[in-house]
Amino acid sequence: MERLAIDGGKPVRKEMIYYGRQWIDEQDVKAVSQTLTGDFITCGPKVNELEKRLADHVGADYAIAVSNGTAALHCACVAAGIGEGDEVITTPLTFAASANCALYCRATPVFADVDPETYNISPESIEAHITPKTKAIVAVDFTGQAVKIREIKQLCDRHDLLFIEDAAHSIGTRYDNKAIGSLADMTCFSFHPVKTITSGEGGAITTNREDLYKKAFLAHTHGIERNEQMMEDLSHEGAWYYEQVSLGYNYRMTDFQAALLLSQLDKLDRFSKRRKEIVRRYDDAFKGIPEIIIQKEIPQSDTCRHLYIIRLDLNRLVCTRRQFFDAMAEEHVQCQVHYIPVYWFPYYRRLGYKKGICPVAEKIYESIMSIPLYPKMSNQDVEDVIYAVRKVVENYRK
Ligand SMILES: *Cc1c(COP(=O)(O)O)cnc(C)c1O
Repeated sequence: MERLAIDGGKPVRKEMIYYGRQWIDEQDVKAVSQTLTGDFITCGPKVNELEKRLADHVGADYAIAVSNGTAALHCACVAAGIGEGDEVITTPLTFAASANCALYCRATPVFADVDPETYNISPESIEAHITPKTKAIVAVDFTGQAVKIREIKQLCDRHDLLFIEDAAHSIGTRYDNKAIGSLADMTCFSFHPVKTITSGEGGAITTNREDLYKKAFLAHTHGIERNEQMMEDLSHEGAWYYEQVSLGYNYRMTDFQAALLLSQLDKLDRFSKRRKEIVRRYDDAFKGIPEIIIQKEIPQSDTCRHLYIIRLDLNRLVCTRRQFFDAMAEEHVQCQVHYIPVYWFPYYRRLGYKKGICPVAEKIYESIMSIPLYPKMSNQDVEDVIYAVRKVVENYRK
């Protein structure tokens, strides 16, 4: 058996590889620099062009570009009319923003447990948590795999709830052959550099509902409105006139970020294809290793995977997850863990959430890690990661 680097052996590779990384090319640089030296660096034509293009791309009637994915979720909650006394159901296996958006609106996040095989929020658990106070469901397409959209929609229809899809991981994914972004009441995207396409920081909301579009739009730009009708009605006012009609925020995206994202959108299909290739290679390699459990997919989801998660069968290993993770890092494969259950954080504990409320998610958390997955990985990088996983498993096999 080959000696692990953590025990003094030679690492699998010389250079450290990380779990995710953006891919910025010359076309991106050119798009940004052209916009930077143009007339508008914010509130200009690139944001409008991006919104049109994004709406077209996902098959939605409306898109709003915003400053980040968290802002998208906040605007969606504002548009949904969520407020004090309301409950919003979400998953604990997510980035904190999926739950924080409810807190921003003084509502209560309620955590529903996940499916033990797909790791996505389970419709049965959602249903068990619906009360007369429930107003919306924030369902996260975890790792890029679509949630059970049909079942969640049925629950929303039956109980008169809004369906907000947190699609921070899932741009490029299709459900029943329809693009993510056109299926929920509102879909929220993130364009942080670790996500599938990036604008540095950035986000978007897509929807088919004009009423929600109007409210979310106001929320992202100070609640300020300006239109021709207003000008006519108030003919004594001049061309400077606008009105603040609700309390909004400044969550706008700049034009140079929009230019970058337009350029990245040109590459989304290529990025998606490469991500799928790597996922297939990983799946094939890990299927034969009984100590590694791979994420199951529902047939409706044609997934553009953002994260590749391996789950350790710790009953078959003599190591802990921590030891496995550290051993991988010494082989120069830097993994990450997605995610610590949100309600475990001190802030949530102070709000009264207790450990143990979502036992499946907690169990999954304790044995998972995300291995490198990004389109710029070479085939050799992919093989190195597989080799490192095998090497660590062999050393720690019972
Ligand atoms: C990244 C992420 C967000 C937040 O996006 P930002 O652009 O970083 O604000 C929200 N939800 C999930 C599931 C994410 O992964």
